[in-house]
Amino acid sequence: MKVYKFGGASVKDAESIRNLAKIVKAESDNLVIVVSAFGKTTNALERVLKAWLNGENKYITLLDEVYMAHLSVVMDLFGQDGEVRGKIDLSFALLRDYLLTSIKGEYDFEYDQVVSYGEIWSTIIVAEYLKNNFQQVYWCDIRETIMTDDRYRDANVLWSESTKRVRSIFNFRKERIYITQGFIGGTATGKATTLGREGSDYTAAILANMLDAECVVVWKDVPGILNADPKWFPEAQKLDEISYREAVEMSFSGAKVIHPKTIKPLHNKNIPLYVRSFLTPEAKGTVIKVDATLRKIMPVFIRKEEQILISILPKDFSFVMGDNLSRIFHTFITHGIKVNLVEASAVSIDVCVDDERSKVDSLINDFRVEYSAVYNENVELLSIRHYTPEAMTRITKGREILLEQRTRSTVRFVVRKE
Ligand code: ASP
Ligand code: MG
Repeated sequence: MKVYKFGGASVKDAESIRNLAKIVKAESDNLVIVVSAFGKTTNALERVLKAWLNGENKYITLLDEVYMAHLSVVMDLFGQDGEVRGKIDLSFALLRDYLLTSIKGEYDFEYDQVVSYGEIWSTIIVAEYLKNNFQQVYWCDIRETIMTDDRYRDANVLWSESTKRVRSIFNFRKERIYITQGFIGGTATGKATTLGREGSDYTAAILANMLDAECVVVWKDVPGILNADPKWFPEAQKLDEISYREAVEMSFSGAKVIHPKTIKPLHNKNIPLYVRSFLTPEAKGTVIKVDATLRKIMPVFIRKEEQILISILPKDFSFVMGDNLSRIFHTFITHGIKVNLVEASAVSIDVCVDDERSKVDSLINDFRVEYSAVYNENVELLSIRHYTPEAMTRITKGREILLEQRTRSTVRFVVRKE
């Protein structure tokens, strides 16, 4: 069996869902299909949530807009047939009811309860559409199948319980095609959780691992994995195959091709991942697998925007590399801040992190009790894998470099935003 994953762009309107069905039709193997929320629904639901938490009534209009967008897809795909509309109406009613009656909890918790609906709606619609085209299609509620802890917005999968459930649900005894939601999971007490933004790729990898899939195919609106973001470098080239290691390094550095957590579950079971274009499904795309070689080694350029560079110095001038190091990292972890780059000297350490302002502010305040901490905002992290002198000049020309770090395979620059 194979796992197919369709992201938001591949289910953005009725036309793209028809295209999805064509792609599914061309596959004769057993399939688990993981689907994201339609287009920009997750962002729209984030706005609904914010308005609701702030007590602003405009959340109702914002939610109505999301509803209308889904309804228009339903009308387009199913016409006057009221059955699917009924299902969607019911699901929206559940969310409206929740927003009207529940006592507001913490942001992260409410985020997962509200935003997870995007994937429920998209999968209901896609499943119903596929049912009209194929006989056996089974819709699975992943909130009851992938079990997680209650670290809302960044939930950890409870691996052994989830494996049991996944294997019993996706058993292919009667059905050949299963459809389920990416990005979301559920706790033992029945609450929805999410696995981090853009987490549907990760869901596909989890399911592939648990079901020993032959491969995962991530269908995207790009021809495969490129050696740079084409918005940044118009002449970016497609990579035919890359290793798991290369993929992990690229996504960690900020390449937006696949979610960074996706690779580990695949690597552990040696399952290849194909990135292919739903616009040109006949093309080969890129494969990530164990024995891949970058046939022609070319530099790979990665840009991570909206970074902050924090410098931390022990106030008493003690060395940073001793006990301070573990204390400093512990502080990052307790604030839930992921470290993107570290550079240490005798009495100071520089750390580059995503600019999540409220988290970073409270982190800096914490540090300032014992350390002096200063930061540079509005910076970017530029990385080149397999760098050459020309490649380095190409991206640093005219830029103010605040930090440079080089290993044999990778060079990284923290530069001020242009
Ligand atoms: N819908 C979620 C998001 O936009 C998950 C995903 O698309 O992978 O972040
Ligand atoms: Mg998405």
